[in-house]
Amino acid sequence: MHTAATLMESARLVAREYAAPHADAVDKDARFPQEAVDALKQEKLLSAYVPRELGGAGASLSELVEICDILGRQCAATAMIFAMHQIQVITIVKHALDNPWYRDYLQRLVQHQYLIASVTSEVGVGGEMRRSRCAVEQDGDHFRLIKDATTISYGAQADDLLVTARRTPEAAGSDQVLILVSKADYTLEQKGNWDTMGMRGTCSPPFLMTATGSLNQIIAQPFGDMSAQTVVPVSHLLWGGCWSGCAIAATNKARAFVRGQARANPGTVPPTALRLAELVSMLQSLRSSVQACLTEYEQLAAADDAASGPLSSIGYSLKMNNLKIDATQALPQIVTKALSICGILGYKNDSKFSMSRHLRDAHSAALMVGNDRILATNANLLLVLKDD
Ligand SMILES: Cc1cc2nc3c(=O)[nH]c(=O)nc-3n(C[C@H](O)[C@H](O)[C@H](O)COP(=O)(O)OP(=O)(O)OC[C@H]3O[C@@H](n4cnc5c(N)ncnc54)[C@H](O)[C@@H]3O)c2cc1C
Repeated sequence: MHTAATLMESARLVAREYAAPHADAVDKDARFPQEAVDALKQEKLLSAYVPRELGGAGASLSELVEICDILGRQCAATAMIFAMHQIQVITIVKHALDNPWYRDYLQRLVQHQYLIASVTSEVGVGGEMRRSRCAVEQDGDHFRLIKDATTISYGAQADDLLVTARRTPEAAGSDQVLILVSKADYTLEQKGNWDTMGMRGTCSPPFLMTATGSLNQIIAQPFGDMSAQTVVPVSHLLWGGCWSGCAIAATNKARAFVRGQARANPGTVPPTALRLAELVSMLQSLRSSVQACLTEYEQLAAADDAASGPLSSIGYSLKMNNLKIDATQALPQIVTKALSICGILGYKNDSKFSMSRHLRDAHSAALMVGNDRILATNANLLLVLKDD
């Protein structure tokens, strides 16, 4: 059974031995990081957050964010796959533990290390997570669901999918439920490619999903409540861990570059050292804001599981949205600064200082739920929020 120390040891092992050696090939070929994900399964890290009573390691969110950071330093796609899977596990643990079907599912997840993908984005709705077009069609004690999804990361490799949908065909777009569908009960028809600038290893093409299942698989709590209390804050924090890892990778290369310059001219401080000082300060701000929001979330979540609690307040939503906006604006700036320090060696694809993968991965952050969409939400919230 994992302790906090062995979790990190396992994460470092996976990052060093399985993610790092294949990161460039995963990026070049836009292929799934199979070696790293197999190793995460081998180390039982996919069930890290599952409570101990159900066989998991009972890890905290902080520990998962640290694992994302460790993985993200070597392969941002592997880190993001780990993060997206954990968002699904955390949502189930926090909102469906009173449902016997889900308790049994989590025990099976521990045993088989199932990988869960997320299906929220939809044709006609885009990245607006709080609205669905597809709807649950009930047939006795079973349901049928068809979703035209614009993007499902590792859809082809996942064992199960956690899907948003309207509660009934008559329900409003925002009256959503969350449903876990199992591989044996769904088909995915791939409708396009995933040949992107960055995050190529997440393998996230569009799919038409057709699923059936038992009504027990529909989580009782409205998705809107789960989204505010868990899905949004936890996503931004776990992604924050991945983005920190990516920023650290770029910064470490810049540090090595400047140290090399200093060694070449003993007794002098290279001009790039000034830029490095600025870069390290930018990195510190990014990491500090993720850490501050993480500490606050863990405190609030421990005391609050009610839909009317602080996690569901307008002020808290704004804060977590601001974390996402600020971190995703900072990340490409950090990598770009690291590139300017390393100069041509950072620009080359075949140099040990290459920034290419980090910079391309960094630009996905602002799109993973579009920043303008988040700013538009904040603009609406600010109209009704009382002054500090
Ligand atoms: C690496 C990666 C992995 C992903 N994995 C998954 C996944 O596993 N599952 C999943 O469901 N989705 C996934 N997504 C999709 C993602 O979460 C977003 O849904 C998707 O990127 C949004 O598509 P879009 O850029 O067309 O934005 P949309 O949200 O469709 O918006 C289109 C454009 O309009 C702008 N816009 C939209 N609304 C407003 C507004 N109100 N005001 C101003 N501007 C607005 C946006 O900024 C954007 O420029 C992934 C995306 C990435 C990059």
